[in-house]
Amino acid sequence: MRLSRYFLPILKENPKEAEIVSHRYMLRAGMIRQQQAGIYSWLPLGLKVLRKIEQIVREEQNRAGAVELLMPTMQPADLWKESGRYDDYGKEMLRIVDRHERDMLFGPTNEEMITDIFRSSVKSYRDLPLNLYHIQWKFRDEIRPRFGVMRGREFLMKDAYSFDMDEESAREAYHRMFVAYLRTFKRLGLTAIPMKADTGPIGGDLSHEFIILADTGESEVFCHKDYLSKEIPGDGVDFDGDLSGIVADWTSEYAATEEMHDEAAFNAVSEADRIAARGIEVGHIFYFGTKYSDAMNAKVTGADGKDVPVHMGSYGVGVSRLLGGIIEACHDENGIVWPKSVAPFDIGLINMKAGNEDTNSACEQIYERLGNAGFDVLYDDRSGQAGAKFATMDLIGLPWQVIVGPRGLKSGEVEIKERATGKREMVSLDAVVERMI
Ligand code: ATP
Ligand code: MG
Ligand code: MG
Ligand code: MG
Repeated sequence: MRLSRYFLPILKENPKEAEIVSHRYMLRAGMIRQQQAGIYSWLPLGLKVLRKIEQIVREEQNRAGAVELLMPTMQPADLWKESGRYDDYGKEMLRIVDRHERDMLFGPTNEEMITDIFRSSVKSYRDLPLNLYHIQWKFRDEIRPRFGVMRGREFLMKDAYSFDMDEESAREAYHRMFVAYLRTFKRLGLTAIPMKADTGPIGGDLSHEFIILADTGESEVFCHKDYLSKEIPGDGVDFDGDLSGIVADWTSEYAATEEMHDEAAFNAVSEADRIAARGIEVGHIFYFGTKYSDAMNAKVTGADGKDVPVHMGSYGVGVSRLLGGIIEACHDENGIVWPKSVAPFDIGLINMKAGNEDTNSACEQIYERLGNAGFDVLYDDRSGQAGAKFATMDLIGLPWQVIVGPRGLKSGEVEIKERATGKREMVSLDAVVERMI
């Protein structure tokens, strides 16, 4: 992509409304634009990252055996009246009336709708286990939308729903999502810690929030230091096998959100290993048994011919919130430092003297070769000060910069800079592609 033909509305000044670094950088890097409180347009650079995050989430859901579908954003109130949540949900739900005076709502979550889909077609134990998910926009009329995409009103969520015959197999479904989440956040460059979360009236131990530590997080959390360096299950993990060992290992040390915090148990951890910090909830998995299947009559016939209400769990990931979360974890004073897996482009190519015959032709050559080698390159081919170009590239945080100036070219060389470390090296024009692979 040539920057001269792209749409990257960089802000020079720090926007006043942005209180935290991720919000500030997302606005300054031209990734999002606020349209109303908590409602954003995704500009080209932001959209690219959003799609990459979405794709990693999708790949790990598929790997764990979940099946993608897509439900609408608009839902009929009737389903929520069946479950009893239409009245309970309160003001966070955006309620809408259509021209026929029918009550509708912009979905804040999809338990009711997925239960409706399930009950209309699944009748037998032979069709289970089943896990259905979608990645769809949600709306919650948050009382205090803030921190940019971190707490939006309209936001993108992955939500999966598992269906099982009994609690035991529901637990296995829960384990699959637990492990899928560990892998997902790791691939996104994050250290997310599964912490015991509130189970409400359902009880039991099957609710975890996945939390990344950050001073700007809205939750207060407590955990053992070991979680920061624990090994994540690799590509070879068998989702058809028994995952209880992995989950047991990942829940063996203390980790709890504020609601579940047990001061005495936490104090039993040696002081040097205790972490009391703030965190960002990036995912939440939850087993809720037959709460919705009872209320909405979603039954399956077992091997013994008896009908039982299906056991369910739900599994959310805050896809759009993750952009903010990743930036909170990966930045420096000059801008964003994207993990490679989600960077909007692989390489930024800087022509220090656009218009100069030598730098132009060297840049064209590098641009073409890198493209042919499969790299997604953002080429700053605009006229303008080199200093401003450097600042823009640092701000948008691509993993590598290739800097082409007349002086280096005299000896046939260009400069390569690694964004994360700031390390620079000179390489010959012909060696650029090789160096990047
Ligand atoms: P929070 O405690 O932050 O309000 P929640 O517990 O209400 O979140 P869930 O219902 O568990 O959220 O939804 C699943 C995931 O969706 C959350 O873990 C979070 O990552 C994301 N999410 C929830 N609310 C928002 C929001 N207003 N903006 C962006 N992402 C959100
Ligand atoms: Mg909430
Ligand atoms: Mg929460
Ligand atoms: Mg939650």
